[in-house]
Amino acid sequence: MNGPTRKRLETLLQTPSPSGAETALQDLCARYLEDQVGTITRDVHGNQYYPLAAGHPRRIMLCAHADEIGLMVQGIDKEGFLRVTGIGGVDPSTLSGQRVRTGKVPGVIGRRAIHLQSKEDSDTALSIDTLWIDIGARNKKEAERLVHIGDTLTLDTPVTWLRNDRVAARGLDNRIGVFILMESMRRLARRKLAVDIIGVTTVQEEIGLRGATTSSYQCAPHVAVNLDVNFATDHPDGEPERWGDTGLSKGPILAHGPGVNPRLLSEFKDVAQRAHIPTQVRAEPDADGTDAGALQLAHDGVAVIDIGIPNRYMHTAVEMICLHDVQHCIDLLTAWVVQCKNDVDYTPR
Ligand SMILES: [Zn+2]
Repeated sequence: MNGPTRKRLETLLQTPSPSGAETALQDLCARYLEDQVGTITRDVHGNQYYPLAAGHPRRIMLCAHADEIGLMVQGIDKEGFLRVTGIGGVDPSTLSGQRVRTGKVPGVIGRRAIHLQSKEDSDTALSIDTLWIDIGARNKKEAERLVHIGDTLTLDTPVTWLRNDRVAARGLDNRIGVFILMESMRRLARRKLAVDIIGVTTVQEEIGLRGATTSSYQCAPHVAVNLDVNFATDHPDGEPERWGDTGLSKGPILAHGPGVNPRLLSEFKDVAQRAHIPTQVRAEPDADGTDAGALQLAHDGVAVIDIGIPNRYMHTAVEMICLHDVQHCIDLLTAWVVQCKNDVDYTPR
């Protein structure tokens, strides 16, 4: 991956997009793809659409959720400390000592010094309502001039480039899926396609697949490819025998289960095999918990596949992925799209 492409990824990762406040990221995505695709539109919920359409009978939706988990200001106490609640699946044990930002206002998540903690204190699991955010304000009045109830916050963490093309950052779930969508759309825009493609960066996945639910009406797709992250269990606490043996640098993860169309899945596997693209498998025996779960149930049913970039430390400030998996995912997705035809029947047989 060349320098400008890495820079594009870094800019995406540094742009906050907590659920319900994805506009800045959507603006960035629109700038990346303007002049590359047809007219980019945004709907009333904030979902954004990138068409590559020429009136072919088959519509294929390529989607990635643009939102990340975050925090929301719930109150400001009389000393000017912010009390917050989580947006999406926030793990409170990862928060103390972190830097945060709401708009242009920086802050830190405080914690009593270890010297002053009783044994009971250090044994008690943290919960979000016991945390506070210190923005350096002297009192409530000063804090209220800068921050309002309902404002969103995200962790203010750097993007860390690691060895072996690995990168750690907050919110790789799912800005890495958005990045893959952007790069794939740029590539597909230069190809002759036999089907209509509509790329979508959906909103509010982390609070219940909400953008995918509504955008599926606008797109009315026959087939949908969901780009997200999936669990990498190749770390000391990964328990691969319990959660599945999936790791970094071994290729994108293809979910297997009732939420995935079997014929679509075997098409992807064939394309991967022919192009020598490594893939991994993950068992998903229940309804898919990602946007794929909502897309499958749209209208009278959509043939869906769920592709995940292996991600260590999901929903922490240091989620980690490998760029090789990202490149393989872009290669797989574009190779699949260019071989798509209008008359494939995805009815399971
Ligand atoms: Zn996700």
